[in-house]
Amino acid sequence: MDPSDLLHEPPLTPYGEVVPPVFQNSLFAFTTTAEFEAAMRSGDRPVYTRIANPTVRVFEEKVAALEGTEDALAFASGNAAMAAVLFTFLEAGDRVVAATPVYAGTYGMLTKLLPKFGVEVDFVPGHDTAALVRALAGARLLLLESPTSYTFELQDLAPLTEAAREHGVLSVIDNTYGAGVYLRPARFGVDLVVHSATKYFSGHSDVVAGVVAGPRERLNAVRSLGTVFLGGKLAPWEAWLLVRGLRTLELRLERHQATALELARFLEAHPKVRRVLHPGLESHPQHELARRYLEGTGGLFAVELAGEAEARAFADALERFAIGVSWGGHESLVLPLAAQPRVRAAYGFPPGLVRLFAGLEPAEALKRDLEQALARVG
Ligand SMILES: *Cc1c(COP(=O)(O)O)cnc(C)c1O
Repeated sequence: MDPSDLLHEPPLTPYGEVVPPVFQNSLFAFTTTAEFEAAMRSGDRPVYTRIANPTVRVFEEKVAALEGTEDALAFASGNAAMAAVLFTFLEAGDRVVAATPVYAGTYGMLTKLLPKFGVEVDFVPGHDTAALVRALAGARLLLLESPTSYTFELQDLAPLTEAAREHGVLSVIDNTYGAGVYLRPARFGVDLVVHSATKYFSGHSDVVAGVVAGPRERLNAVRSLGTVFLGGKLAPWEAWLLVRGLRTLELRLERHQATALELARFLEAHPKVRRVLHPGLESHPQHELARRYLEGTGGLFAVELAGEAEARAFADALERFAIGVSWGGHESLVLPLAAQPRVRAAYGFPPGLVRLFAGLEPAEALKRDLEQALARVG
């Protein structure tokens, strides 16, 4: 896409505004029944914000441009976006093939909600392409996330989507990590691209939102079932904040990436660190896949320390990394997986696993902080 698509858009009003207005309306009214009926039929004019809103539309068009897809649809959260996709395309008796480890919020949907509606889920290790392909026969939907957001494992997208197509299986990817800048899954044959816009798209830790990008026909199905009936549509004010966030997406990602790589290399050389999990490092077991698929790596990575006590002590000793879930904002974060026992248990992550997010602070200050915190780990 032309990067200026994130910076500019045509005005929505005759006033030539350089920033879109917030259409803070629940509904849009008509003067004649015929006009109302035409709008309901064509979708050319907004009728009701649960269905469509002009400010939300600006955000959706930017995401479609970013992902290089025909269309995009915005939701009130990443989970709402994923739910809209799953509940639109699945029915009782269907089977989902999910590449593990799956993001925790999606994992809950797959294990606690879908079985109630008669949908079965096969969890298959994401690095095992042959096993994933074998599981596709007779399945309805293939769920991918590459790299994964706890241990940064990659999936070999091209052969997987090719096999999915042969078996008539819809492929869906969570691309929150790649943000449409460092990974553009549509190029590798993925049908639907889901994002938590809460992370890099917002970039300022002030919005919870989600979006799905893909071909118009598929998204029309999601729009008419998942959006309209499940109702998790994005609000106009949140969309406005996201449009603002997207203007600096590429700039912010460059900074996150440079800082995270510097910190990861520093940590890799530190005697108290067992392993660094970062797809940009030559030591990553799937570095070759990362080079093939990723155009960059962002601010998120993980380290493994000796054990749970060390992981907790490290997180507690850090001063510039706040302990918290989520990521993608301006602030650096740390998350010892020991403090998320259900996620850790579900995937058998090592007790010393700690996820780090490099924010927009100067790299040197973050490095000094990591150094002093490791010095205090037993
Ligand atoms: C945060 C996140 C989600 C869920 O998004 P919400 O906006 O919190 O609903 C999904 N996938 C990944 C990888 C995430 O990090």
